This record gives sequence, C-alpha cells and structure tokens, in this order.
Amino acid sequence: MGISQMGLLRSSCSALCHGPRTASVLRPSAVLTRQISMDTQNLVARLNSSGLLRSQCLIGGKWTEAYDGKTIPVHNPATGDVLVNVPCMGGQETNDAISVAYEAFLSWSKLTAAERSKRLRKWYDLLIANKEELGQIITLEQGKPLKEAIGEVNYGAAFIEFSAEEAKRIYGDIIPSPLADRRLLVLKQPVGVVGAITPWNFPLAMITRKVGPALACGCTVVIKPSELTPLTALAAAELALQAGIPPGAVNVVFGNAPEIGDALLASRQVRKITFTGSTAVGKKLMAGAAQTVKKVSLELGGNAPCIIFDDADLEVAVKGALGTKFRNSGQTCVCANRILVQEGIYEKFAIAFSQAVQSMQVGEGFTEGVVQGPLINEAAVQKVESFVKDAVSKGAKVLLGGKRHSLGMTFYEPTVIGDIKNDMLIARNEVFGPVAPLLRFKTEEEAIRIANDTNAGLAAYVFTENVQRMWRVTEALEYGLVGVNEGLVSTEVAPFGGVKESGLGREGSKYGMDEFLEMKYVCFGNISSN
Ligand code: ADP
Repeated sequence: MGISQMGLLRSSCSALCHGPRTASVLRPSAVLTRQISMDTQNLVARLNSSGLLRSQCLIGGKWTEAYDGKTIPVHNPATGDVLVNVPCMGGQETNDAISVAYEAFLSWSKLTAAERSKRLRKWYDLLIANKEELGQIITLEQGKPLKEAIGEVNYGAAFIEFSAEEAKRIYGDIIPSPLADRRLLVLKQPVGVVGAITPWNFPLAMITRKVGPALACGCTVVIKPSELTPLTALAAAELALQAGIPPGAVNVVFGNAPEIGDALLASRQVRKITFTGSTAVGKKLMAGAAQTVKKVSLELGGNAPCIIFDDADLEVAVKGALGTKFRNSGQTCVCANRILVQEGIYEKFAIAFSQAVQSMQVGEGFTEGVVQGPLINEAAVQKVESFVKDAVSKGAKVLLGGKRHSLGMTFYEPTVIGDIKNDMLIARNEVFGPVAPLLRFKTEEEAIRIANDTNAGLAAYVFTENVQRMWRVTEALEYGLVGVNEGLVSTEVAPFGGVKESGLGREGSKYGMDEFLEMKYVCFGNISSN
C-alpha cells in the first residue's frame, strides 16, 4: 500500500501550492523545514550552473511556469531544506502538453527506427556522462545514499540504452494465408500519446523505463513525476532535449496530481496511461481510462514474501534478505515485506540477520559509508510507527531498532521484528520503510499458503539449496517476479510487473515494448499467382 492510501500524504495542489512565484527560490515552507544549509546551498549552486537543476516544467520544448504562477516547494528529506520552488500545474497546462505531444507524435512516429534509436542512444550517453550530477539531484530530493543514487542513474539509463537497441527490432509478422490469392501480415505501430505517471522512490528509473520504450516505438509522452521528486525528471528531460529528442516528444508537468490525472484520462489524444504507484491510485486510473478505452499499464504495490527454508545457505539468505529489504530504506515495491523463516533455521537466521542489519550506517546520503538515508517524509515515518505499534501490541517482538533514529527528521532505525503473524497490519500492507518482519513457518505448504495469502503479487524471494523445491515453490507462487537465492532481480533486460492487484503489463525487456504498440492486421487480396 502506498502512503497516500493511509490518507497521510497529501499531494494535491490545494495542500501544497504557494501563490505566484516570487524572486526567491528558497522559501521555507511547511513544518519540519529549516533554512537551507550552507552545504546544500553550495551543491544547489553547482548544479544550477551545470544547467541540470531546472525549476520549470517542460511543455513543447519550452520551460514553463504554472499559468497562474503558483509554485510548490521541493524538500531535501534529510534536512528539511527547501531546495527550490517549482510550478504547481493543473488541467490547463496538461491539456496544452497533450496537444504539443500529439503534434510531435505526427512527426516522431514517422522517423525511421534507426533515427529514433540514434537519439535515444545519445540520451543514454548524456545520462551516463552526467551521472554524478543526476545522482546528486536524486540524493538531494529523495534522500537515498549517493552511491545508490548513482546506481539508479546507471539502472535508469540502461532502459534508454535497451530501448535504443530494441527500437530497431519492432518486427511485425507474415501469416501463412489459408487462401492462395491473399497475403496476411501484422504491422506494429505506436499507440500514440502516452501519459506516464511516476512515484518518488526511483525519480529517474521509473521514468526512463516508461519513456524509453514509448519513444522507441514512436510514441510521445506527457510525464507526471511525483511532486516530491520532480527535479530529476526535469534534469532527464533537459538531457533528452540536448540529445535531439524533438520539442513536444517529452513533456513534464506536475502540481495538482488529481487534476493532471483527470486531464490525461479525459483526453482522446492520450491513448495509453502507464503508471507506477499505489494500488488505490492505480485503480482510479484504470477506472478513469475506461472513459476513452485507453491502454493501461499499472505497476502497483507489492507485499513481497521472502521465504527462507531450513536448507538455505545462511550467508546467501542473510545477504539476499538484507538486499531486498533495506534497498532505498525499504521504500521499493519489491522490498521484502514479510520474511518467512522455517522453524529449523529461524533462531540462527534472526541472529545473523540482526547482526548484519545492525552494521548498516544510517545518515544523510552525501556522507561516506551511509547505506540508509531518511524516509521520504513525515507521513512515511508515521506509517512505519503505526505498523510497528500494531505488531508489538499483538505480540511481535522488536529484535533491533523499532523507533525513530536519533538523527531526527525522517530517519528511522533499521529494524528487525520477530514473531510476526500474517494477520498483523505490517504483514497485510506494504510498510515501505526499514522494518524487517520475521514470520515463523513449519512446512513448505504452509509457507506457500502464507506467501500467497495477499491481494498483491509483485515480487517474491525463495532461499533454498534444494533444486526440486526451487521449482515447486517458484511455480506455486502467485507473483510476477521470483528471486531464487537472489534479492536483487530488477534489470532492464527482464520483464518487470505483477499479478493480482499488483498490476497489469510488464516493463523492460522485449515484452515491455508491446505495451506501447498496437497491432494492425493487413489482408492483401486478389494476388495473382502468375
Ligand atoms: P505513493 O503513495 O507511493 O506516493 P501514489 O500512488 O500516491 O503513490 O503516487 C504515485 C504517483 O501518482 C505520483 O506522481 C502522484 O502524484 C500521482 N497521483 C496521485 N494521485 C493521483 C491521481 N488522482 N491522478 C493521477 N496521478 C495521481
């Protein structure tokens, strides 16, 4: 479950928008913020001079303010500093972005695949050439450690590289005709203008994994990044322009999320919505897309089980569980949300895992050695606190951590909780924080039953040395991705996506291209055989 489902995160413009922009970009905002610190100020100044720190939206190749001049602040979650104020746009600006995207579609879709491929490749090169700066922007607005942020740039850029390569392989089909005078074929054509709505946890990669294949197929895009992390999206869009992606092919608007969403849904020119975010918002978008019968891809919340069997290699299991649980401070939809441990290895695993978790250094993302940053905002911490409180009140035992970190702000201690039951809040919903809940089980059947006892079906992990069991359990799990003896499975070359309420469609790999294509069956008649 996303934060907004808890009713804690308000991203609507009414809650966040400021009046028309004034000369200063460093206006202190809500509670929990303070004046920008000197270090951040220097970094922001450096990024500004690099030309990558954009503070306006992009419509038709023009950097644009909200039409009514309203702005929203972007915060550094580690310090509360207001980094910059950005436009708070709504339906009007979105409609204009859709119109220019439609105009651009008419020419972008006519380019040869080779030409689109070259420009995507150039965009990839620029993303990689600017990986330090992009990583710094991600750390500033999202909080993840710089090394992890640069890792996201590599990962995110790889979707653009892959799309550049795959653009040249959008093959159709020739079908053997049942009639001698006919020839049958299938053309693949771009779906049209795409609305891409993305979350804050991967400010770059969630965009590139949608926009890369969309552009490769000949579509154009209106991106609506999270209002919490819009700066990375703007920097990526700046580099897209530099790479020769034509004005209007990539547009970025944000501000009043529901209003922007409604404009995208209502438009007949938008033929596809691709979304990563909470299940609640995904369901709204799916219902809204019915108005104009758009194609929809949804990558929604997970509730990933990580099953550790008695016959697992303990070291591999600890490393794998650590990787999948604490990446991005637990704020990914493929993070292990329930660690199911078989009774024979439970105590040993709990000790070794807790020791590994204890050694994790928490802090501001620019500090050397830090592997866990702050949570995205106060609402996220309150959600984690409420889940931990619920679990403890029902008999769970805190083995490590279990409270806010002494660093203050939105830092939370890396936490391990034992004796979790599958009916506790923390096992039913995504905690989206650095809390590892351990559940004890006896048999393989019980583990599979518990693992599948959820509406979610995104990622699952299995740790065992038994080859038969690997196959049995993997096939029985109702999930879109399974990591076997591996906690980090995401890559641009493999299909990523969920089953059940975790979503529809796949991103990445050759399969991800189909999401942006329509098939056209063509029948040629009256073909003479002479
Ligand atoms: P989370 O709870 O993880 O932040 P959300 O689903 O709320 O996930 O947000 C994911 C993205 O969806 C963000 O860009 C957010 O602004 C956007 N969003 C939220 N509500 C709507 C809506 N009604 N229509 C369109 N986009 C929305």
